[in-house]
Amino acid sequence: MIILRSEREIAKLRASNRLVAEVLNEVKNAIRVGITTKELNDLADSLLRARDAIPAFKGYRGFPMTLCTSLNEEVVHGIPSNRKLKEGDIVSLDLGAIYQGYYGDAALTVGIGEISPEAKKLLEVTEQALYIGIAESREGNYLSDISHAIQSYVESFGFSVVRAFVGHGIGTSLHEDPQVPNFGTPGRGPRLRVGMVFCIEPMVNIGGSEVNILSDNWTVVTADRSLSAHFEHTVAITHNGAEVLTRLHEDSRE
Ligand code: MG
Repeated sequence: MIILRSEREIAKLRASNRLVAEVLNEVKNAIRVGITTKELNDLADSLLRARDAIPAFKGYRGFPMTLCTSLNEEVVHGIPSNRKLKEGDIVSLDLGAIYQGYYGDAALTVGIGEISPEAKKLLEVTEQALYIGIAESREGNYLSDISHAIQSYVESFGFSVVRAFVGHGIGTSLHEDPQVPNFGTPGRGPRLRVGMVFCIEPMVNIGGSEVNILSDNWTVVTADRSLSAHFEHTVAITHNGAEVLTRLHEDSRE
């Protein structure tokens, strides 16, 4: 069941998602060669707690950490560790938080120092795919119009979208209806209505779309070990199109 959120609830979601965006940005700014993913996790954890927010991923189905850190061929759900980031790596950071009972969720992928042209292209295409999905997020469109736009854009570059994991509604739980796939036929699924709030999160691979889960039971990797990127925003459907709840003030993009 898709819950339509009132203005009052959207204000709460605005607060929790703004906070996630701010913390994620601070963690991104702390990235440098030699820092460990555990250090990034600990920074995210302390910044959230300083804002009276609760990490949403820690303990979720047993996930042990606050931040997901997925390196290179890792797609999502990487567990922070003592691995050090090195020049040429890409790392995806995914952060969720609960603030006053409402959830926020966002992700981005960052290159460490100089990365290959191919990796740079992957990051650009994945982030742009997210904004193409957001542009389709308006009242009266079908949910799968978002999915289709993302898939078409990504595949036009010869990259593939992950199918085993998808975006999701969000509100007073981390994962609510509807599911928001990054692939599909347009004109299907529910119509978008004012008050819907969901996460759009394309996961894009340079190679094939297939993924495996490592023996830690969390880390998702590309089956062919090609590089993968992930960008995520939480959006609310309003009378004026999509409001990106995880957008920073200084980010001027719609
Ligand atoms: Mg999410």
